[in-house]
Amino acid sequence: MGEALEELRDWQSALRAQFPIVVDNPELAYLDSAATAQKPQAVLDAVQSYLTTANANAGRGSYPWANRTTALVEEARQRVARFLGDREDGRESDGSAVHFVSGTSEGLRTVARDWLTEHLGDGDEIIVPFADHQANLLPWLEAQRLLAACGVRITVRELPYQAGSHDYDPAALAESVTERTAFVAVTHVHHVYGGDMNVHRIREVVGPRVPICLDAAQGVGHLPLDVGRLDVDFVVFSGHKAMALPGIGAVWARNTRGPRFEPGGWAGTPNTSGIVSLLAALDWLDTAGPDRIERWTIALGARLTDGLRHLDHYEVLGCQRSLAMDSPVGQRHGIVTFRHRGIGSDDLGFVLASHGLLVRADSLCQAGAIQRDGSVRVSLHVYNTAQEIDRLLDVLRVM
Ligand code: PLP
Repeated sequence: MGEALEELRDWQSALRAQFPIVVDNPELAYLDSAATAQKPQAVLDAVQSYLTTANANAGRGSYPWANRTTALVEEARQRVARFLGDREDGRESDGSAVHFVSGTSEGLRTVARDWLTEHLGDGDEIIVPFADHQANLLPWLEAQRLLAACGVRITVRELPYQAGSHDYDPAALAESVTERTAFVAVTHVHHVYGGDMNVHRIREVVGPRVPICLDAAQGVGHLPLDVGRLDVDFVVFSGHKAMALPGIGAVWARNTRGPRFEPGGWAGTPNTSGIVSLLAALDWLDTAGPDRIERWTIALGARLTDGLRHLDHYEVLGCQRSLAMDSPVGQRHGIVTFRHRGIGSDDLGFVLASHGLLVRADSLCQAGAIQRDGSVRVSLHVYNTAQEIDRLLDVLRVM
């Protein structure tokens, strides 16, 4: 892992220099990218340029600004499809599979309300994660309630995890799948433990007929994502975690298993500046290279877990086999959650903030985690550096 930090150092410095908020605040280390990512200059420029040269509504009006806006929205749809590896028979998709939403939470809820309730019948079963982000559990429970109100009873089963690693457990999942299994929801990268949930194994376990929905909130922009390889039916993500503005996200729908995904009702004016920001952000991420971003953030996460492993007072949550720098389980995608055995998360967060280390120190929106567990989360992106990790470890060492 250490070699990646050496090998990619110049590449990373050039990218880091493109984030004004990072460059202008050298005394701060932003370590909360799983909550939201910082924006490169190219995204800020694209939004500014759009709002000052072509701002109009999309799909309405035939004057040049309106046409330009409509074209940008279409281009962004195609960009999202291309970014996710959507290709039909080797040809690039036309973007019709992409629907803009405000973010992952709204996207998953839309899949649940507007598609799942149409797809399921009495006696069907769905399998969903009970210990991932609550945005990937609550909508499925809501669909169950909506269906029950119409006399359609479905069973919600828990997607099983492996003890110790927090990865999904394909063998146990195989036992939960029945001929009534009609839907499975999974997460790409866990927002607390940082683990790649290895969703490529899920299709093999559930068989060719069952639709799979992927919460890619922590995946898009952090590692390569290929809908062809994963053979999932929905990919949902938030733009703001992928360097675009808040308030924009997307649902990509394959539309080959179950009914077509057609979000109901009149959507009204789209978030055009958000869509422009997403187009610019995906362009930027593609040029930077999600594979290199993945290597960089895994290496930084490994440096942190390796450092914490040598400090007595700390316990890193999640997979214990992936703590060392040279661990063969390269599992943590730039998200590391840990706790101090004697200091609560609020106090730890406060002290770290006073040293300019901006971490997440409150609830992590994890489904089922009713009690605060006193943990602190550090989440990294391409603008973070090994020096920032070392600064953090220096402060943690004396606490
Ligand atoms: N899913 C995961 C895995 C997340 O990490 C998050 C946010 O942290 C969400 C869903 C919800 O994303 P948003 O708040 O952008 O809707």
